[in-house]
Amino acid sequence: MKLNVNLNTFKGGIHPYEGKEYTNDKMITPIEGSPEMVFPLAQHIGASAKAVVKVKDEVKVGQLIGEAQGFVSANILSSVSGILKCIEPRLDASGTYKESIVITNDGLYTKGYEEHKNDISSLSDEDIIEKIKAAGVVGLGGAGFPTHVKLSPKDRSHIDYIIVNGAECEPYLTSDYRLMIERSSQIIEGLKIVLKLFPHAKGIIAIENNKPEAIRTFIQKCALEDQIEIKTVYTKYPQGGERSLIFATTGRKIYSKMLPADAGCIVDNVATMAAIYQAVMFDHPLVTTIMTLTGDAMNEPCNLEVPIGTNLKYLVEKNGGFKENPEKIISGGPMMGTALMSLDIPAVKTSSSILALIKDEVSMCEETACIHCGRCLDVCPSHIAPQLMYQSAMKNNIDKFIKLNGMECIECGCCSYICPAKRNMTQSFKKMKRLVIASRKK
Ligand code: SF4
Ligand code: SF4
Repeated sequence: MKLNVNLNTFKGGIHPYEGKEYTNDKMITPIEGSPEMVFPLAQHIGASAKAVVKVKDEVKVGQLIGEAQGFVSANILSSVSGILKCIEPRLDASGTYKESIVITNDGLYTKGYEEHKNDISSLSDEDIIEKIKAAGVVGLGGAGFPTHVKLSPKDRSHIDYIIVNGAECEPYLTSDYRLMIERSSQIIEGLKIVLKLFPHAKGIIAIENNKPEAIRTFIQKCALEDQIEIKTVYTKYPQGGERSLIFATTGRKIYSKMLPADAGCIVDNVATMAAIYQAVMFDHPLVTTIMTLTGDAMNEPCNLEVPIGTNLKYLVEKNGGFKENPEKIISGGPMMGTALMSLDIPAVKTSSSILALIKDEVSMCEETACIHCGRCLDVCPSHIAPQLMYQSAMKNNIDKFIKLNGMECIECGCCSYICPAKRNMTQSFKKMKRLVIASRKK
């Protein structure tokens, strides 16, 4: 094991209020699901899964209920036992209705899969990939890209680095941090399984320097691992963004038209590594997600292991509720998370947090004229020109937006955060990128 003590980072970025003190020391507590569980068939990047169960079927924990369709897709497995109530569109975090399997939870959690302890050394690469696919593992850092696809690049010998993302740079979130403290062995074993698939690659576990306990834990546990290096990265947002992390840990650059694999890298979040370990070692399906319930409106901030499909309103009520009616509720972190219109939605594989804030400070800000201070330019990790891009976005000028390399925007929100004129640039860039993608499809 090598320890890289230099603080690796990238150019740009910001230092928002961290807010991690609410839940930093709160251990992960497993909880039970809600009486009604909802499983959207599209909770990953790629094609929706196809329901393979029907109304009134009896369902068990770990049972396949949605089967991956096509190359980029993922299985959905039930996190509870019970009776299938209906298959119908249900609201999700994006504010849209998605076809979902609804199960009435019988509260018994009857298992529908066998517990194994596999001998990893006897598994072929195909066996490993198949187990990850069967378990429905996707990128749990937010993207939800099917992991069995990510681990199957054209040429495995071209991959030089497997980077484990333990940065958790989003303010308030501590679910990854707690996982690193409490289940570090699972993360390391998951990485070793992935390294078995990529014999020429080195493993890098990247952790921000505001998590000294996690850094210490990994240094101790990886002391004898020659193929694994612990890299301490500088605490700065968006340090955990794929491009920022690849640059900080390897010095390699990627652009919007490249995949990390094109730069010889594969990046997976710490929770994904633990899920890989569970899937390959024990044939455990991915049926829970670790979530941080936090913010000044939350009565009892905590870290929970939540069965996928659990109703978020039920989750909050069962775990202390709100001390004050929040003006803003966000799924995920304050920088890249999604503002929720309703809590009557399910936890999905990529759910990492419910952030409840008493005041919605962003909506109180009034946008004023640009004062040409250049701060947005300084903080942009993609090294593009947010101020000029915003001008093109205001005029819906797609050609200009493309010319200004607007498609390189990673939607991190740094420009909007730093802007003294409170210009809501990131939202307009998201819209412009959607327009460009739609125009290219035509
Ligand atoms: S949102 Fe886009 S333009 Fe703004 S700082 Fe982030 S990458 Fe740059
Ligand atoms: S930070 Fe805001 S005010 Fe300053 S140059 Fe950028 S858009 Fe203009």
